[in-house]
Amino acid sequence: MITSDIIIIGAGPCGLFSVFEAGLLNMKCHLIDYLPQVGGQCSEIYPKKPIYDIPGFPEILAGDLIDNLMHQIAPFKPGFTLGERVEVIEKMENSSFCVTTNRGTKHMSKVVVIAGGLGCFEPRKPNIDKLSSFEDKGIDYIIKDPLKYKDKKVIISGGGDSALDWTIHLAKNICSAVTLVHRRSSFRGHLDSVEQINKMSQAGLIDLVTNAEVVELIGDKSIDSVRIKTENQIFQKEIDYWIPLFGLTPKLGPIANWGLNLDKNAIVVNPHDYSTNIDGIFAIGDINTYPGKLKLILSGFHEAALMSHSAFKYVFPDGKKSFKYTTVLGGIEGF
Ligand code: FAD
Repeated sequence: MITSDIIIIGAGPCGLFSVFEAGLLNMKCHLIDYLPQVGGQCSEIYPKKPIYDIPGFPEILAGDLIDNLMHQIAPFKPGFTLGERVEVIEKMENSSFCVTTNRGTKHMSKVVVIAGGLGCFEPRKPNIDKLSSFEDKGIDYIIKDPLKYKDKKVIISGGGDSALDWTIHLAKNICSAVTLVHRRSSFRGHLDSVEQINKMSQAGLIDLVTNAEVVELIGDKSIDSVRIKTENQIFQKEIDYWIPLFGLTPKLGPIANWGLNLDKNAIVVNPHDYSTNIDGIFAIGDINTYPGKLKLILSGFHEAALMSHSAFKYVFPDGKKSFKYTTVLGGIEGF
């Protein structure tokens, strides 16, 4: 059982900044995210795109903003559970919450903050026979731990950044063989990555098969080979894993089952402090709705500050809190 003052569901920019605001009030946070990395949409969808409306940064790459947030919250030593989806929130007799993930990990806290953005990102699955029978038996849609593929023969399908970056990474001293299969001859990914893929293919470090797709899955209990169709032939290839990386789409998922008031897939909150209809549960960032809501990172940052002050009263009903500027505190080293 992992215990903290505040459990934050969603480690996107708004969830991460909440750690800072809660930390200024001496509250300890634990973040849970279904994705294997922090950063939410910024890391998953557009890490290399510049953002122009973060106050004080005329231009900052989404990925760099997440790195900066991680740096900013590090002194407060938050806990992280990544690659797990929160399924159930239960209110206990002592009015604490018990939060359980799809892997059965249990977390306990006084306050729950839902910073779930657009919901959980679900993989776009290829349309191919026997797919579900091989899921987790040789087919993965997300790479959580690259070392799982150590010395294995892997096929990656896809033409975006994720497919290119993982092909490059896995081919470097991890897998025994990596094949990249893509339906077209051009890629959607970053130019640098495309150049690197072409160089690695020419050097024989990866097998690049373009204008092609995996059309059949073969195996008994787990996958052991696939058939690949190109423009002029169909051939069979032995593998340990097939990893189709066709992107992720967000779905509200379990959040819809937690008894919260919803309006068009968003959690209705009180704009005074972003509390929900359940005492002790708050919702901030893209997941919430109230009159005039703007789905922007800076709105979520503001919401994190107000939510933390209200959460403090919930965690420490008798606690005394005085508002101080960080400049007056002389930075966060004093914590
Ligand atoms: P998210 O970033 O969506 O993160 C939510 C996290 O919650 C996800 O990682 C998800 O996996 C997790 N989660 C959800 N449900 C569960 C569950 N049950 N269990 C565990 N984890 C869960 N905004 C700007 O302000 N400026 C811009 O220029 C800008 N440009 C954008 C460009 C693009 C292409 C896109 C797609 C968005 C852009 N945005 C921009 C919007 C901005 O990215 C979002 O407002 C911001 O990411 C919201 O942050 P968040 O922390 O609320 O949620």
